[in-house]
Amino acid sequence: MELDSSIQYLSGVGPKRAGLLSRELGISTLSDLIRLYPFRYIDRSGVTPIAQVAPDLASVQVQATVVSRTLYGPQSAVVSQETNPIHWGAVKRLSVIVEDASGRLEVVFFKGIRWNYQRLVPGSTFLFFGKPQDFNGRLNIVHPEVDAPQDGALSQGALTGVYPSTEKLKTGGITGKVMCKMQAAALNLCLPEITETLPEYVLRDRGLVPLTYALRNIHFPKDSYALQKATYRLKFEELFFLQLSLLKQKYIRSRGERGLLMPKVGPDFHACYNALPYALTGAQQRVIKEIRADLVSGHQMNRLLQGDVGSGKTMVAVLSCLMAIGNGFQACIMAPTEVLAQQHYANIRKYLAPTSVQCALLTGSTPQKERRGIHAALEDGSLGILVGTHALLEDNVVFKNLGLAVIDEQHRFGVEQRSKLWNKGPAVGKQVPSVAGRGFAPLPSQPDGWAPPSHAAEGGTPPGGDLLADQNVPPHILVMTATPIPRTLAMTLYGDLDVSVIDEMPPGRKPVQTMCIGQNRRAAMYKFLREEITRGRQVFVVFPLIFESEKMDLQNLEQGYEEIVRAFPLPDYKVAIVHGQQSTEEKNFNMAAFVAGRANILVSTTVIEVGVDVPNASVMVIESAQRFGLSQLHQLRGRVGRGAEKSYCILVKDVKTSKEAQQRLDLMCSTEDGFEIAEQDMKMRGPGDLEGTQQSGLPINLSIASLARDGALLSEARAYAGRILDADPTLSSPENAPLLRELRKDKYDIKDYSKIS
Ligand code: ADP
Ligand code: MG
Repeated sequence: MELDSSIQYLSGVGPKRAGLLSRELGISTLSDLIRLYPFRYIDRSGVTPIAQVAPDLASVQVQATVVSRTLYGPQSAVVSQETNPIHWGAVKRLSVIVEDASGRLEVVFFKGIRWNYQRLVPGSTFLFFGKPQDFNGRLNIVHPEVDAPQDGALSQGALTGVYPSTEKLKTGGITGKVMCKMQAAALNLCLPEITETLPEYVLRDRGLVPLTYALRNIHFPKDSYALQKATYRLKFEELFFLQLSLLKQKYIRSRGERGLLMPKVGPDFHACYNALPYALTGAQQRVIKEIRADLVSGHQMNRLLQGDVGSGKTMVAVLSCLMAIGNGFQACIMAPTEVLAQQHYANIRKYLAPTSVQCALLTGSTPQKERRGIHAALEDGSLGILVGTHALLEDNVVFKNLGLAVIDEQHRFGVEQRSKLWNKGPAVGKQVPSVAGRGFAPLPSQPDGWAPPSHAAEGGTPPGGDLLADQNVPPHILVMTATPIPRTLAMTLYGDLDVSVIDEMPPGRKPVQTMCIGQNRRAAMYKFLREEITRGRQVFVVFPLIFESEKMDLQNLEQGYEEIVRAFPLPDYKVAIVHGQQSTEEKNFNMAAFVAGRANILVSTTVIEVGVDVPNASVMVIESAQRFGLSQLHQLRGRVGRGAEKSYCILVKDVKTSKEAQQRLDLMCSTEDGFEIAEQDMKMRGPGDLEGTQQSGLPINLSIASLARDGALLSEARAYAGRILDADPTLSSPENAPLLRELRKDKYDIKDYSKIS
């Protein structure tokens, strides 16, 4: 039987059930069916004495003898008790009392009454399996599975798989038991046809069981050990092909996409670097070397830079821009909000002071006249770095030769916006310092220090340059995000991008003391805030405004603001407020008042979540903290602890705080490590719901492996995939043909994520 035969070939599956399986579970072939794995197993290896059956058990199996049967009609009138003939039409319910040596139990049927009545003859013994429940103080099991002891689950394998199901499947007759039968029939037909998907040496190396063994035991485990082996093998296989697919795309892109060559470092880089008031952290140095290696590779860089708030990403961005400038290119830095763009601009200008590089700010509120000057300076090349918001994506913003685009706080930008940057690179027809061609340029070895590798420094005509006339060469792209993504998720979500991580904080940073309080301690908190303000510190107070348009949230914010103003009255205290409903000018005005220290307290919504730097702010108060997600809480807390003073984060919770929310708050109080928080977040909520990832979504539906739990296995699988591709990037050798065949399956056809960031 062919694996891709329709499931209609299975006995008991007609067109109707086949349609149902296809609509509800996307299963149309035998191969689809046997790749639908149970998501849990019921252990039917033992029986529970009736005396120990309790309603809180998920399921029990009892072996008991039928004592009596009662048939009930409407309104629980007894229709017949062990009498004949029975008027079946009037029967609504069958109650059977069963007993073992320890006690008695009721089992109840509302369906299949006649059939069950006929076989559950008093005096005969059966295995009953189901969920016990408490019904008016009496224990019973409704619709248990009933098996004769000799052919029951005890004598088959002990573990019974439970498959994903839906209401429609159940009413369509595809119950758990029917699904098991279908799987058994499908396996019988398919197993002889199954060919191994993983290379022999990988199996041997990892001690993985063969595919046929794994499939048999994932559905019908011989024992729990066999199930473990099967699960491990299938998880590895899934993660392996996922990574093989991602890495293959990465190979094709990184070897194929022509990139701007930037062999030099340049005097401006050195001028800035030598004037830094601090030493770069080891992590910053490592990341700059990684970026440097990309810029001299001849291929387009597409790098994601992850680093917790305050880890010093801006510095890395500036030095990267200066490398581009050192090779005659321009650079731009794009931030998601006006406030952030302004702040970047102010910081970057300071860093650029010792250099000769010109820098400008372009946002939605840049006046026309200034704009024209910027446009002109961009086009004649005198402007080196342009900082701005998405205003710099507008069509009339034309660079002379854009070599590097830095995108800060990536998840705030939409997909189309990001891809626009790709088209802002220099056209090859223009005067371009150097462009590498398509094809397989040799990858340079890791540069030593900042010194350029010798072959790149020679410059010369790039191969294939003449084929590229009149095409835009995409600039190198560096995406920076402060949302720590668990490593496993990053490897999958950005599996075909290069990922750099700044995992080290600048020295001297003091930990932020985090506490969680109830409303009853509000007065004490105000007293504490007054003390901090008296010391010259500033305070953030953040209210949840999940949907900025929601009236109730805005009311909460306004009431909260009024309460704070009452508790912190003029002239001793000044309170500023910022929220999404204000005009840009109003927002900027209030924000600026706080940044400049004219206001002691900033009441706001989460608009300040990302990036804003006010080193003098030492307290972050988060109101209704239970309503925030973990990554948002972490981002907000990152706003303090940036200066020399000891800082605090106070999470104020409402009375109505769920258990899950309390878990989040507890985690916040116990760690400041963004990566740990992200890991825990993923464990608590599953990878699909992680903040910052919803808009892109997971590129793949995993059927057995879990990104939250199988991180180690994922890394191993990725390493094998990498080794295979190193030797054969296109998988064109005959021995890799089976891999290529497996990759062609829809499941591993993953969207190309590289072009969106
Ligand atoms: P991020 O953008 O990653 O949140 P920033 O780039 O804004 O972080 O840096 C946070 C602060 O740390 C800035 O005030 C910056 O001047 C400072 N900083 C950056 N790198 C270092 C370093 N190596 N040593 C000391 N301070 C640093
Ligand atoms: Mg930043």
